[in-house]
Amino acid sequence: MTKPKNPSEIARETLTALASRKLAPTPENYAQMYQEISGETAKSPSADIGATTSKGRLVPAWSELIRDLLRQLETPHKGITITRKKDGVDTVLTKFSKDPEVLFGKLQSLLRSWSTAPTGPSAGELAPSVMPGTASVVVPPQPAATSAASIHGDNNDLIVQLRELLAQSLENTLSTQPELASEIQALVEQIRATDNKSRLNDLAKQLRQFWFKLELRGSDKIKIQEGLLRLLRLLVENVSEMVEDDKWLRGQITALQLIINEPMDKRSIADAERNLRDVIIKQSTLKQSLTDAKATLKSLMTTFIDRLGDLTASTGEYHKKIEGYSQKIGQADNLTELSHILKDVMHDTRIIQTSTMRSHEELLAHKKQADEADARIKELELELEQVSELVREDQLTGALNRRGLDETIEREIKRAERGKSAVSVALLDIDNFKQLNDSLGHQAGDRALKHLTQVIKETLRPADSIGRYGGEEFLIVLPDTDLAAGIEAMQRLQRDLTKKFFLHNNERILVTFSAGVALRRENEDNEDLVGRADKAMYKAKQTGKNRVVAAE
Ligand code: GH3
Ligand code: MG
Ligand code: MG
Repeated sequence: MTKPKNPSEIARETLTALASRKLAPTPENYAQMYQEISGETAKSPSADIGATTSKGRLVPAWSELIRDLLRQLETPHKGITITRKKDGVDTVLTKFSKDPEVLFGKLQSLLRSWSTAPTGPSAGELAPSVMPGTASVVVPPQPAATSAASIHGDNNDLIVQLRELLAQSLENTLSTQPELASEIQALVEQIRATDNKSRLNDLAKQLRQFWFKLELRGSDKIKIQEGLLRLLRLLVENVSEMVEDDKWLRGQITALQLIINEPMDKRSIADAERNLRDVIIKQSTLKQSLTDAKATLKSLMTTFIDRLGDLTASTGEYHKKIEGYSQKIGQADNLTELSHILKDVMHDTRIIQTSTMRSHEELLAHKKQADEADARIKELELELEQVSELVREDQLTGALNRRGLDETIEREIKRAERGKSAVSVALLDIDNFKQLNDSLGHQAGDRALKHLTQVIKETLRPADSIGRYGGEEFLIVLPDTDLAAGIEAMQRLQRDLTKKFFLHNNERILVTFSAGVALRRENEDNEDLVGRADKAMYKAKQTGKNRVVAAE
């Protein structure tokens, strides 16, 4: 027999020789055969066996292993080609052939990895071939029960090891993500405690979300910067267009300031950007129409004055006046001014009305056209104002945003002061919302926020206003409402939420909140008022959540 050259060949030869000589494939026999084939000095077999038996494990059955190996090699497995199997065997033989016990374990693991794959031809390889070195060995069919049992036992070991590995690698991310320390720690504990399949599935879901969060964190800062830059660019581009009418510009700048003042994240910036872009597009379309309408009005009036001038060329004094009007119209650039001029012209015209019927009719016709143009301008201006209202709304929920809320509170307080009536505010914060996000996903969380806004709108009176105060916090302004009525309104809302469930995949999810209600004191400013409601809300959280607490 030619001497095999590398450990993998020696090991393969050893396995073949054991099988063909019908030798019991014990580690001792393997070791002896290996040394015989390789020509190496014999190690004391008892050293190997001693290590094995001292651990109290069964002496591995080599013959079974070889049979299994050959059988599984020939069994087609989905996703594992025979070439890959052979490479696997080769690698294991090369690396571990010197230690029969380790080799046995590794081959067993390899086998397990094949046998747990579903059977069926692997892509690109329909007819399995046989590994060259073992082709001559005849393999009788084997009952699978014994090997399956040991696989199960070892699998548990393996899962325990994998679990620990996962826990450790997660712990390693602690140093790079100190802000997530508590979340990481909680996950690590959960990993270590996971002992059944359903918990494992849960865990896998949470881990996926956690990785996703990690990835987001990595790119968050850059995205915030990019988002801000785009926003600024958008504003600057728009400034030159808008300087003509600073009311519009002011609206946009206030919106931007609000965004910058609040804690920024990717979402709020993206929302703001979309918001601003919409407003700008609509504003510029309207602005164009408005400019066109103003130009039409101007040109109508100029034609009219010209005509009048022609008609009254003889009346010197009037002619002068008309010239004056023409100049004024040329300089006028706002509607109020134009309509004043028009009135003056009408007044003066009345004096010479009798001079010709034709001029009168023309005057009326032109006046009608001018009125129409004026009406169109008013319409457009109103529309423009409504578009600008968009920046008062929270894009996700349709509730007021911080800017809208500030204006509403301001307005309601003034109204209450004028009418000497009561006004209350309620600050509510969804309970355990993070958990809802974590278990159902962020999009479901978004839908829950919309759902809550909808229920609040349905439950409260039309005069009440609701605004999104923060992520999952809402502020409700309740005009003509004293403390008791405010608390009662929040409790009614709580009851309604137990009937109008939030549905997620047809599953009813109960959304609860904790709320603080404060009645405005005389001369109390907004911040103090909301601050008291906030404190009461905090108390509601502290004392068990899903509660409404009156502010002190
Ligand atoms: P508590 O009962 O004490 O209020 O607990 P909580 O989990 O509701 O409060 P916490 O402040 O820990 O978490 C609030 C969560 O709300 C965290 C944040 O991811 C989530 N959130 C904030 N804004 C949004 C949003 O616009 N959409 C979604 N889906 N989640 C949001
Ligand atoms: Mg909160
Ligand atoms: Mg909350």
